[in-house]
Amino acid sequence: MQAVPGEYLEIDRKNRANQPFHDLTLRPADVRVCDFEDVVVEFDEDRARVEAARCIHCPDPAPCMVACPTHNDIPSAMWLIEKGDYKGASAIYHATSSLPEICGRVCPHEQLCQGSCVLNHQHQPVLTGQLEVYALDWERRNDPYVVEKEKESHFKVAVVGAGPAGMACAHVLLKKGHSVTVFDSKPAPGGLMVYGIPNFKLPKTVIDDKWDDLVKAGAKFSPNTYIGKDKTIDQLFAEGFSAVFLGVGTGIDAKMEIPGEDLPGVYEATDFLIRGNVNAENLPKDKAGKPPLGKRVAVIGGGDTASDCLRTALRLGADEVTCLYRRTENEMPGGKKDRQMAKDEGAKYRFLTQPVQFIAGQDGRLAAVECIEMKLGEPDAKGRRKPVPVEGSNFSIAIDTAIKALGYWPDPIIGKTTPDLETHDWGLITVTDRQTYKTTRPGVFAGGDGVTGPDLVVTAMVAGRKAALAIDEYLAAL
Ligand SMILES: Cc1cc2nc3c(=O)[nH]c(=O)nc-3n(C[C@H](O)[C@H](O)[C@H](O)COP(=O)(O)OP(=O)(O)OC[C@H]3O[C@@H](n4cnc5c(N)ncnc54)[C@H](O)[C@@H]3O)c2cc1C
Repeated sequence: MQAVPGEYLEIDRKNRANQPFHDLTLRPADVRVCDFEDVVVEFDEDRARVEAARCIHCPDPAPCMVACPTHNDIPSAMWLIEKGDYKGASAIYHATSSLPEICGRVCPHEQLCQGSCVLNHQHQPVLTGQLEVYALDWERRNDPYVVEKEKESHFKVAVVGAGPAGMACAHVLLKKGHSVTVFDSKPAPGGLMVYGIPNFKLPKTVIDDKWDDLVKAGAKFSPNTYIGKDKTIDQLFAEGFSAVFLGVGTGIDAKMEIPGEDLPGVYEATDFLIRGNVNAENLPKDKAGKPPLGKRVAVIGGGDTASDCLRTALRLGADEVTCLYRRTENEMPGGKKDRQMAKDEGAKYRFLTQPVQFIAGQDGRLAAVECIEMKLGEPDAKGRRKPVPVEGSNFSIAIDTAIKALGYWPDPIIGKTTPDLETHDWGLITVTDRQTYKTTRPGVFAGGDGVTGPDLVVTAMVAGRKAALAIDEYLAAL
């Protein structure tokens, strides 16, 4: 089928579903594992238009729109992409999303928009995520997006945390005309999009460009500023900020609480991913230099972070990279797509295996991990069968490096240093509701992982946008 600019492709509604499906093109596993470049090959124009023409335009509200946490009008965007109107399609995404070029790349689409596409019943879904990327990349190259102010304001707002929640909040506040300063404890903005998600899933240039849009609209950035240590929320109010948004995420790696956890050669996932993936100039001072790995690496955990660590270790040159997980593959929380890519790139998996101690060699560095075999017992409160140790089944695996990818906790510092700010569950910030994201402290709003616990870029972004609208209303009433 030939796509002619400005014209819709001549396909009737029934035949749209019958168009041949071609999945995303990935760079070959043995090539991509040698670098940190994007694994997905960009669509070309013909491919994008033909793929968009597979959308059958379900009646409003289309299931994909409902499943999208930010409710992008995906069918309209598909219609415009099919026509070759990429600027128009981008405008559709900008209307409901502050990070469309990022969500298009990292959302678990198979669980959200693509997962709910009605074509799944008999065919394959429309590749909505990659089409979002196509439209937004076209716009960036040809007719860049500009944040337009809807009104003037004399209010100053402090945004703490430059992750997706903070960036989205800043974006909407700038549109509302407010002056925004973003404070972050790290040297560069982006939160886990920079200091977590590896480059081969989300190139850092995409975040840099997005941040530039905000800077051009007037956003100021205060790097290396730890709120709670370097200054408090009370000080921010004293400096003249009229409202504060907390998008502080969950930055503390969960511990295993087993012997040998502090041995040289045992890494926390964040530390490892930061040092493995972030350019030297954006590294915090205490995390300089690529992590020395040796030949044999074990990654402990079963989520997306574990997949990212496995794939980063392979790219850093380890010979043997094995995931140790205490349940079976069926119970793994991480996405199947990422796991398959890790397998294709050479990662091995050892299920029903629980480390019980890290063992040092004569040089004092990690030399082995002692594990115990597990079996699945009764279901827990969430319905997942609990892993139970098999007595006497201990065994050791020789390794040079272990990476703990077990989950994240919030840093309780903000709660501890802010009077009247209620927190719960070791530091998650309490909000009164999920529409305004007001905290118990007047003028302070919060959203993202720091409120919900670890979740997704898109959910953090949605929270930041909603909180910004509530902040705008709060300021109007002052
Ligand atoms: C390895 C990894 C891979 C992931 N992959 C995906 C994926 O593929 N797709 C997806 O949708 N999600 C993914 N996620 C989850 C996603 O990154 C998070 O859900 C999202 O970034 C949360 O956004 P946030 O703005 O709430 O917090 P964060 O992104 O964590 O940003 C919080 C920011 O606040 C700063 N900060 C914290 N405390 C303070 C303080 N006291 N003072 C100043 N600054 C502070 C931090 O430095 C950080 O920059 C991944 C997460 C990890 C760890």
